[in-house]
Amino acid sequence: MTRIRKYPLFVSAALSEPEVLADWLADTYLHSAGVAFLLIVLGLVGFHLVGQIKRRVDAETEIVRARDALEALNQTLEKLSLQDGLTGLSNRRHFDIALDKEFNRAMRNASSLALIMIDVDCFKQYNDIYGHIAGDECLRRISQVVESSQRRPSDVAARYGGEELSVLLPCTDINGAMVIAENIRMAIRNLAIKHTGNPAGIVTISAGVDAFVPVRDENMPLELIQAADTALYAAKTSGRDRVCHNVNFTHRGQPVSSDTSMIKEP
Ligand code: GH3
Ligand code: MG
Ligand code: MG
Repeated sequence: MTRIRKYPLFVSAALSEPEVLADWLADTYLHSAGVAFLLIVLGLVGFHLVGQIKRRVDAETEIVRARDALEALNQTLEKLSLQDGLTGLSNRRHFDIALDKEFNRAMRNASSLALIMIDVDCFKQYNDIYGHIAGDECLRRISQVVESSQRRPSDVAARYGGEELSVLLPCTDINGAMVIAENIRMAIRNLAIKHTGNPAGIVTISAGVDAFVPVRDENMPLELIQAADTALYAAKTSGRDRVCHNVNFTHRGQPVSSDTSMIKEP
């Protein structure tokens, strides 16, 4: 503000409001534009990140699903690799693994391990008379009986080879195994599958049984097979359609009464 000397006047000069605010407004617009730009960039980056995370979660879910499917497939393959294709029983590989495992367990626990070896009587004649397809079907039906003889999860019914089947019975003594073998023999008789080439007129089996408490450094799993096989041979040579155990085998400490050494249909 300035006073004019010659006149009683004051001259006052000032900027208008828009002029005063012009710089501030320019700054504000500039900053707002900057902030808006940053927000847009942040929004785009966030959107992109959320998309990435979602894709990653989807990919992980897909991997977990694929891994579960692969595990299920592996379990199926593992099961199939231990199963006999014709009969559905455990195959020889599974039998050998189970025998080793149960033999060691029986040694540790000082418990009796039993084995039943089963052989179909005159099966060659069955094939010759009724054909191999009927022979296969006959083996399947016999196997179903043997399969259902398993009472405990650790029992293993297997196709030992050809028309020979085996049942491994942990924690079972010779008398218990003889009863199970006899039940199998009778159940197969009760199937009443016609077999004119067998003296009984129906399909029958012979079985050899052995059981003992294995001792470390003294016994081998093979001994159990050999003894049951010897008993099976005795059942065959003494007339077939019967269950025998090998009384002459010396490895077991468990005496067995002689009246169970052979069971035969009267
Ligand atoms: P035995 O009473 O002495 O046991 O006489 P067998 O005729 O049963 O014994 P042998 O060993 O002479 O014959 C076994 C037969 O079993 C011969 C073979 O063709 C048959 N066989 C083995 N595996 C199979 C199979 O998977 N399917 C069929 N159909 N036959 C089989
Ligand atoms: Mg045979
Ligand atoms: Mg046979």
